Amino acid sequence: MTVTSPDSMTAARGQPLVVLDDVQKWFGDLHVLQDIDLTIKRGEVVVVIGPSGSGKSTLCRTINRLEPIEAGTIALDGEKLPQEGKALAQLRAEVGMVFQGFNLFAHKTILQNVTLGPIKVLGKSKADAERRAKELLTRVGIAEQAEKYPAQLSGGQQQRVAIARALAMDPKVMLFDEPTSALDPEMIKEVLDVMVDLAEQGMTMVVVTHEMGFARTAGDRVIFMADGRIVEENTPNEFFTNPQSDRAQDFLGKIL
Ligand code: ADP
Ligand code: MG
Repeated sequence: MTVTSPDSMTAARGQPLVVLDDVQKWFGDLHVLQDIDLTIKRGEVVVVIGPSGSGKSTLCRTINRLEPIEAGTIALDGEKLPQEGKALAQLRAEVGMVFQGFNLFAHKTILQNVTLGPIKVLGKSKADAERRAKELLTRVGIAEQAEKYPAQLSGGQQQRVAIARALAMDPKVMLFDEPTSALDPEMIKEVLDVMVDLAEQGMTMVVVTHEMGFARTAGDRVIFMADGRIVEENTPNEFFTNPQSDRAQDFLGKIL
């Protein structure tokens, strides 16, 4: 099945898309992100791994400015992310995010969940938004469920709707924060398959996950975080077979 790709997927690959430069963030006394330098290139899939509490979710949340930073800069497609205001809302719309919980609107149908943002934020007509939503729901394999409500779907189906909803905004980059960790085992693959497909189509992705299969299949780079720092960075194969730091060796010893 072919679906028209948004511009973000066909534009020149390999150019810097998200650039974090010396980012520092505190929660009170906790220096939760320390000296973060990270360049994510267009079309790149970066997998973020690390122990609980190492700052992975905070990193995702700062990339779309759900959380402010205290120092450093974050640029998206050459534009520095503003701290607030209309410009921020606009830039934030260019960053899609999928969380562990599916966060769908319970009292709206699947179709309405996917069309709401495009109509309200992008100003699309209902007809255009629905056409695109149906395309995306087909792509994630749930076209038949369009008129149902979230509670009528399985967790795996709901997470695929959440992915379709994020894609409907034509984001330049997609952030996934442990998208499969709340799912029953038999539903993990159907969500990962959609993500692999997205990666193959050239979407720029930051994926917090411990799913080694996904990291090896779709990941271009693994970033290992501990205590708010990027401790190690490597290709997935090198990282998993030959971790360099004690922290990474210790962590992999526990999860593999
Ligand atoms: P991870 O996703 O790697 O498990 P998080 O980014 O969620 O880690 O959290 C990193 C650290 O920041 C943890 O110690 C967590 O308790 C703390 N933290 C996260 N969110 C907040 C917050 N809103 N206020 C204060 N501390 C927070
Ligand atoms: Mg987290």
